[in-house]
Amino acid sequence: MFNKKTIRDVDLKGHRVLVRVDFNVPLDEGAVADDTRLRASLPTLNYLITEGAAVILCSHLGRPKGKVIPELSLRLVVKRLSELLGQPVAFVADCIGTEVQAAVERLQLGEVLLLENTRFYPQERANDPNFAADLASLADLFVNDAFGSAHRAHASTEGVAHHLPAVAGFLMEKELNYLGAALEDPERPFIAILGGAKISDKIGVVERLLDLADRLLIGGAMANTFLAASGLDMAESLVEEESLDIAHGLIERAGDRLLMPTDLVVADSFAADAEKKIVAVNAVPTGWRAMDIGPETITNFKRALQGARLVVWNGPMGVFEFEPFAAGTTALAEAVAASKCKSIVGGGDSAAAVRKVGLADQISHVSTGGGACLEFLEGKSLPGVAVLIDRDSPSSA
Ligand code: ADP
Ligand code: MG
Repeated sequence: MFNKKTIRDVDLKGHRVLVRVDFNVPLDEGAVADDTRLRASLPTLNYLITEGAAVILCSHLGRPKGKVIPELSLRLVVKRLSELLGQPVAFVADCIGTEVQAAVERLQLGEVLLLENTRFYPQERANDPNFAADLASLADLFVNDAFGSAHRAHASTEGVAHHLPAVAGFLMEKELNYLGAALEDPERPFIAILGGAKISDKIGVVERLLDLADRLLIGGAMANTFLAASGLDMAESLVEEESLDIAHGLIERAGDRLLMPTDLVVADSFAADAEKKIVAVNAVPTGWRAMDIGPETITNFKRALQGARLVVWNGPMGVFEFEPFAAGTTALAEAVAASKCKSIVGGGDSAAAVRKVGLADQISHVSTGGGACLEFLEGKSLPGVAVLIDRDSPSSA
């Protein structure tokens, strides 16, 4: 279980609180295109406001590579955030220094100040101790609510916690409670579904889930590599040659707990308007490529999901961004949503896929983290969490 102190455990009234949020949101023409991550921070922010803290927010946005990029300014989220909070959000065009200190001095209890993109400084990713100390000097308590960045040991996620008492926000707690409970003592049958593109990134996850889950369903490009490892000719399909040996080993180890596609939707090019047809996995025509799981596989996977008590899903079943190849991902999303089991969807693209078909509300937990979720599923310690005060620690923050 989650064993860190949270904002519930500490005194907030009259304190200046630096909150690391994950406001790394998709933008479109200078406006927030998807406010999921802003909404996800509201329970923590509203609680801090109600409890009478002065709230200072910091986050990264995109990959500015240590330079000031106006298109990646957090100023762009101010309007939407203040609408969601129902109160003004002050903004300062830096995250450390005298201008920021002055803005913090002006900040009243119950008010919210958003700092500029921490990644405008190269010191953020370098986890520079001086930069972390400058950030920390703004507040007397640090709250990490940025689950999506918790796998990174950066200045605003990890370094700062060496200079201030540090506790978790509600989003961090919720994410880790869901994922932790699922893995520590899974309700059974526990079915894992894995797909997506980069199998080398996910080998650790496959191994861990193979140990924990009763069955592992594999689709997406990940399945291509497993099918190729079992000796099939995948023609032009995306196959990770360097992972074939590992995939072969995993197939042997898993036995019949590993369920692979039996048919595929293949296309004659990688395009939304490509020619497509359904073929058995041993009949991918020369020059064609797998783009989605086929109808027979959908039926098999749905049957395997029947009676499940816990489903953990990472990685789409096909190239869902192209409508003609979204059927497998959509069908599984519908099946998971319709079942009464506890369901967890992790991974940036997987979460987007579930949201795209409007089923996110029917999943028990859609994680706001991609990489963080994967590293947690893999059993790795998250640096942004490790550094928070332990629940049973006497230090009161
Ligand atoms: P997540 O972000 O959920 O962890 P990944 O990033 O691993 O998922 O994979 C998502 C990507 O995998 C999507 O962009 C999707 O188009 C791609 N993908 C899924 N199936 C295939 C396939 N058969 N061939 C090529 N790409 C695929
Ligand atoms: Mg992805």
